[in-house]
Amino acid sequence: MSKIVCIDAGHGGSDSGAVNKSRYEKYEALKLANILRGELLKQGITVIMTRTEDKYVSLNERTKIANENKADLFISIHRNAFTNDTAYGVENWIYAKTDADTERYAHGIMDELEAVGIQSHRGVKRGNFHVTRETKMPACLLELGFITNSKDNELFDRKIYLYAKAIAKAICSHLGVWVKANEIVNENDCSDGACCQLYRVQIGAYRDVENANRIAVELKEKGYPAIVV
Ligand SMILES: [Zn+2]
Repeated sequence: MSKIVCIDAGHGGSDSGAVNKSRYEKYEALKLANILRGELLKQGITVIMTRTEDKYVSLNERTKIANENKADLFISIHRNAFTNDTAYGVENWIYAKTDADTERYAHGIMDELEAVGIQSHRGVKRGNFHVTRETKMPACLLELGFITNSKDNELFDRKIYLYAKAIAKAICSHLGVWVKANEIVNENDCSDGACCQLYRVQIGAYRDVENANRIAVELKEKGYPAIVV
């Protein structure tokens, strides 16, 4: 049976979360959550979302959704905030009285995020957030950089697909699910998800098949995987 992951995009609707000028935590959490959902679906994981649009969902409803759907793992996506721009980096919260398995899960996410590049690893922290306390499965609340720090925001915007892939990879490895075609590629290819697409480059159209074949041979000699269609 396929594994079930509950993704909780923090805040929503009348609850904006942290705001910095035109940036709203509720939108950024949902954006990352939706990309993460896609990455997990690619791995054959069943994904439950606590919200898929900009609407208010109470904390009780969020944990009820995760528990009633018997999720194997839960992740709540947030962005952090501070009164000025001096705080930066990523931290991952688990419930204070949680077990070693949850701690491993939270560290796994941080390790994969660190591997694709974050400004600072602020640690796996123990606290008393409702969503990590009331969920019956390993749960974490990820603060993916500070919305009040410009470098964190720049990283979030540029690496959002990489971050989603990194989190998906950590989730899959915790669940023992094989990570199919989820190799993390050059960050520069990935700010708009372009790494997930294939582009076809056409070099010319030839009336004569001999000419086409000759060009293809030349290209292959130069190391391009040319084909004649
Ligand atoms: Zn938040």
